[in-house]
Amino acid sequence: MSPCFDVEKKSGEKVISTHAMTIAAAKVLQYKSRDVAVKTVSRCGNVRISVANTLNASKAAIQRHSVPLGGESLSEGNGQSIAPHLRMSEIINFSTLLASFLDQEERVAMHHKFAGAHHLVSESMALGECRGYASFSNDGDDVEGHSSSSNKMESIRVDRVLYRQARPVTSVASMSYDEFHEFLQAQYPAPQSQLALHSKMLFERSLTPHAWNFYRKSEGVAATVLVHSAMTEERGEVPSSSSSSSIHEQLVYNTGLILQPIVSEQVTSTLASLQRACFVLAAATATPADPRTQAGGCVEDASLAAVAAAWRSTLLKRAQEDRTNIQDLLSFATGDYESAFAVAEGCRLPTSTIASCANNIEPLRKLLLGNDSTQTIELDSSEGAMQRTPIDFFCRCSKEDFIRVLKSCSREQLEGAKGQVVTCKYCKKDISPGAEEWEQLISSAQA
Ligand SMILES: [Zn+2]
Repeated sequence: MSPCFDVEKKSGEKVISTHAMTIAAAKVLQYKSRDVAVKTVSRCGNVRISVANTLNASKAAIQRHSVPLGGESLSEGNGQSIAPHLRMSEIINFSTLLASFLDQEERVAMHHKFAGAHHLVSESMALGECRGYASFSNDGDDVEGHSSSSNKMESIRVDRVLYRQARPVTSVASMSYDEFHEFLQAQYPAPQSQLALHSKMLFERSLTPHAWNFYRKSEGVAATVLVHSAMTEERGEVPSSSSSSSIHEQLVYNTGLILQPIVSEQVTSTLASLQRACFVLAAATATPADPRTQAGGCVEDASLAAVAAAWRSTLLKRAQEDRTNIQDLLSFATGDYESAFAVAEGCRLPTSTIASCANNIEPLRKLLLGNDSTQTIELDSSEGAMQRTPIDFFCRCSKEDFIRVLKSCSREQLEGAKGQVVTCKYCKKDISPGAEEWEQLISSAQA
């Protein structure tokens, strides 16, 4: 009997060890895929930098809100436009980047109106929680008081809730398409004015110009901003039979960065040429979401097609396979491969070797920056300079909060609302007070 027992024991151990390995592998994958924001400064202290990967949080937002969101108005075919989904992801990324510069429970609430009728809201707390929702209205009315009445005008409003401030600090910036186009022509004259040819696609399909404009107008600084998301679906439409759950699965990239000058004169030209590179990257990879705006699209333009191909084979491929988004984007923006590696490693993020990263990213830098690719920004990778914040889609709504709101209602209002279920607009959780709680509310309410 004993040999048989041994065999059983051995195979049992094998099962256990295989199981343990599966759990370990799953944990590694989970850890590598973790959403995270990383901030640091340049070595000489003239730029502060934040990079964030919010792929999972954005997937959660899309999944919860079935974002199709009137998508039919953006798409003339039978499919649904993925534009609102990409924009939702980018808004979550941008609010996370802004929040990373705040402290602990300080937070930003970001409202973005685009394509005339989509209203996206994202809230991010400095300590890493974020939540968002999307709504759609065809009436063209301003949503929550900020102007963007025409299709050609897009706006971002940010309310920062800060310690030691009784009220939120509000900043609003809007931009028309014509204004953006003129800026590109003036800022990046020939032979670079080719970028202006793609200004419409960039304006309509990417948050990057609007995020950049927000910094320029409301913060008064010429920061470099890239907020970048991508779907596996390249035609820009998903079949109408696709549910939102399959749409969120198609989101494969959602990473962004801000380089904000502290002493602006020293880095103005470096950040301006980097911003141009970010615009080209965003234009080249912007998914053609609306068949009506395909004129001047990337397919016809060989140089943009080359950028898109280079992006797919480097940043996107490595993000999907090795999860090296943060190291790669930091390397792309700064050209400081050694420190980008040290920052990613110091923040316990997936890394690839310095040589492998440089071999992949440097050609993309050369392609987008040309001679300016020799301008590098050295990063401070010392422990005191950098900070890593794990990001989660998380909503703090509770039944207690809802009951607190109901306490301000009249008895008549409460009688009418009794028994109703309320759904949280951020996380879609159903909140319903019990019969006893309703009775208590009604009996203590003013008639
Ligand atoms: Zn909620």
